[in-house]
Amino acid sequence: MANRLRDALSRPLKDLRLSVTDRCNFRCRYCMPPEMFDEGFEFLPKQQVLTFEEMERIVRLFVQASGIEKVRITGGEPLMRSQLSHLIQLISKVDGIRDIAMTTNGSLLTKHAQNLKEAGLDRVTVSLDCLDDEHFRYINGRNISVQHVLDGINAAEEAGLEVKVNMVVKRGMNDEDILPMARYFKGTNIILRFIEYMDVGNANGWKLDHVVGKRELYDIINKEMPIEPVDPNYRGEVADRFRYKDGSGEIGIISSVTDSFCQDCSRARVSPEGKLITCLFASEGHDLRDVLRSGASDEEVIEHIASIWEKRDDRYSEERFQQTDQDKIKKIEMSHIGG
Ligand code: SAM
Ligand code: SF4
Ligand code: SF4
Repeated sequence: MANRLRDALSRPLKDLRLSVTDRCNFRCRYCMPPEMFDEGFEFLPKQQVLTFEEMERIVRLFVQASGIEKVRITGGEPLMRSQLSHLIQLISKVDGIRDIAMTTNGSLLTKHAQNLKEAGLDRVTVSLDCLDDEHFRYINGRNISVQHVLDGINAAEEAGLEVKVNMVVKRGMNDEDILPMARYFKGTNIILRFIEYMDVGNANGWKLDHVVGKRELYDIINKEMPIEPVDPNYRGEVADRFRYKDGSGEIGIISSVTDSFCQDCSRARVSPEGKLITCLFASEGHDLRDVLRSGASDEEVIEHIASIWEKRDDRYSEERFQQTDQDKIKKIEMSHIGG
């Protein structure tokens, strides 16, 4: 295995998140508010987006540069990219890759779960923010039913994919859905993870008051369904794990706002147009696409990746509350980076 690259704060480069498209068939109000992402919104033109072959090369070169073993496919909605299973197949053949996961809104899983599994996908994380149908149709901005996503989750399980569910909790939007969601997934094989609402991008009008913090989430669940902490699976795991004391499963809480985890952050992100992004809250990325398209050799691309990672000193979540001009910082949108 290649020696891991280390950044300026000694953090290794271990995982890669590939955002394969900036397009989405949902308009979740906290991510792609429909007023902003309307008909006039200009998504990336096709020629600017990396091809699957370019993505496969990037994965291969990250393995060679730093021994990465895990790749997560995200978006926009990754399943908006046609023939996505072809990309999974290419990545699954890269020597050294042991785990391929995807984050999806679940709406297209009934159609694609089986193909994705056969192509080599190991896991999916399905985003679902509530179980109340009318409310969910409103939140996703496209009138998609809860049942539609639940059918996608079932299809993924039937295809043999490991499934987790992510629920972003925003006060005033879906904090009343915390307990119904916990009750629904308790006793199943699916781990539900609550995510603190984050100030990613500039489109969603984030305010600290909107955040339901880890401590509060813990109390709400623990009061009705007692839970206790579980050790992390590995160093740098972003979710704090808890298990139900009655033995009926596990939940996770991802607390990027109230209890940040920058000191263990070992993830690189690549955007659909091939920018290497060193932090979820970055203002911009570093170009890889033009380097690839200029005919650079593998060694040259690896050197380029290394020179970016070695300078990395991002720790936005640890510094968040020292920023006085929060509103003025330009940040890449979540629908572009993919979380
Ligand atoms: N479209 C796919 C989906 O929704 O799963 C993948 C991309 S989406 C940007 C990735 C994840 O980011 C989703 O689970 C979504 O709920 C979450 N997300 C979006 N905006 C967020 C925010 N401001 N704070 C926390 N999580 C957010
Ligand atoms: Fe919703 Fe994901 Fe689409 Fe954002 S990218 S609008 S979170 S489905
Ligand atoms: Fe990593 Fe940036 Fe998030 Fe900190 S704020 S955990 S450096 S992505």
